Amino acid sequence: MLQIRFDNSYARELEGMYVPWQGSRAPAPKMLLLNEVLADELGLDAQALQSPEGLAMLTGSAMPEGASPLAMAYAGHQFGGFSPQLGDGRALLVGEVINRQGRRRDIHLKGSGRTPFARGGDGKAALGPVLREYIIGEAMAALGIPTTRALAAVATGETVLREEPLPGAVLARVGASHLRVGSFQFFLARGDIASLKRLADYAIRRHDPELEGRDDCYLAFLQAVTARQMALVAQWMAVGFVHGVMNTDNCAISGETIDYGPCAFVDVYDPQAVFSSIDTGGRYAYANQPLLAQWNLARLAETLLPLIAPENPESALPEARAVIDGAAGIYTQERRRRFGAKLGLAAPGEDDEALIDGFLDMLAAKGADFTQSFRALIDAAGGDAAALSAQLRSAPGLNDWLTRWRKRLDAEKDGAAGAVARMQAANPVYIPRNHLVEAALADAQGGNLETTRRLLEALAQPFTECAGFEAYAAPAPSGFGPYVTYCGT
Ligand code: AMP
Ligand code: MG
Repeated sequence: MLQIRFDNSYARELEGMYVPWQGSRAPAPKMLLLNEVLADELGLDAQALQSPEGLAMLTGSAMPEGASPLAMAYAGHQFGGFSPQLGDGRALLVGEVINRQGRRRDIHLKGSGRTPFARGGDGKAALGPVLREYIIGEAMAALGIPTTRALAAVATGETVLREEPLPGAVLARVGASHLRVGSFQFFLARGDIASLKRLADYAIRRHDPELEGRDDCYLAFLQAVTARQMALVAQWMAVGFVHGVMNTDNCAISGETIDYGPCAFVDVYDPQAVFSSIDTGGRYAYANQPLLAQWNLARLAETLLPLIAPENPESALPEARAVIDGAAGIYTQERRRRFGAKLGLAAPGEDDEALIDGFLDMLAAKGADFTQSFRALIDAAGGDAAALSAQLRSAPGLNDWLTRWRKRLDAEKDGAAGAVARMQAANPVYIPRNHLVEAALADAQGGNLETTRRLLEALAQPFTECAGFEAYAAPAPSGFGPYVTYCGT
């Protein structure tokens, strides 16, 4: 029997910011993937989730007692253009649970049918994008990067029409919340400052409770969200992740990566890498991500001005602007820390940036594989630079760079062993490489989920080389690419 102890604070406290709603009925639900470890963390019974009642909840067909399914309202800037109303067009917040660590978690469905926010959409999701979000989100979690998690992927038994008929599925995902920058924009766009305040107070209570009661709580909240977001993007950059749709509705207040659409990891290092078919201008290219995160935060700042200074919102501009300007500095620090660790440095300083940039410049110039080059660097720290030389195909500056780097490592208190340990923990062996993801999705489409399961297994321990998984560490075969991802929603 499916028994879940829900505690639905969003439904309870934010009336008017959602529409209570039910999902459509999935004709023949079938469990494709269930994340049993996550289910257990949430205190959910994995057996019960696989029962007809469990499948009904995970597809949105019918809800267990205590759930309060709803479609959330939000707005958003998409590729720079503002839509005053987006909202959960094909998603439902099922409810919230408190996990074993005492943390509040949303259970949320994607692909559960049309809602009043669906506009022209069919409310559905195809199997491919659902599994893609499952695979990449779980890979991110294993890499230690804040992200929503995948709880389950369930086939609906329905065909959804995209460019071609495709099998339908629903993703059940779990997140610290689904509050977005766009949630705040929704109320600013309507001039509804009272709702904006209710939302901000709720967000502070939920994500930054230590700020409650402070006179400057809204400014401090902006600062906290900014710090989380810039730290997150630095982590993306350090593994070569391109989100692809950094619209303000896909920018979570919690600091988690959310809404995996046309995202991908770079194989060959290229700062201008873009994978999304719709990102023709390269707005969300790899190298632009820190800047676009800052842009999104500026949109959040605008919504908070009337709360920071209710009498005269404009008077809050200088302080808010100072926070947004500060985002660049936070990013610089976080990037230095992350990339410094990739080079084996315990406490990288400003002077080390030349070393970091020097290495990345060589990768870009030679079109080297990002992930493998950093792994090869670990051997180089141990004195064997052969693999690195091969990756960098004798880049002209390599020997010079190695000399400078080794000298810098000599200054580390814990010596080469310490550096190697740091590098092993910062440079993954396994990332969800595009050709592997595509192969998994193609097999799944044909009814075979084994390829996906095995890929998930490889990605679950990304920093540990594992016998039998050599192919998962290898770069794309030479015929693969250029890689294009489609929103395919
Ligand atoms: P996304 O690209 O998933 O971040 O979605 C952007 C907006 O479009 C959100 O408001 C979604 O709810 C909506 N949307 C995307 N796909 C669909 C669909 N198939 N049916 C209804 N709404 C959708
Ligand atoms: Mg979205």
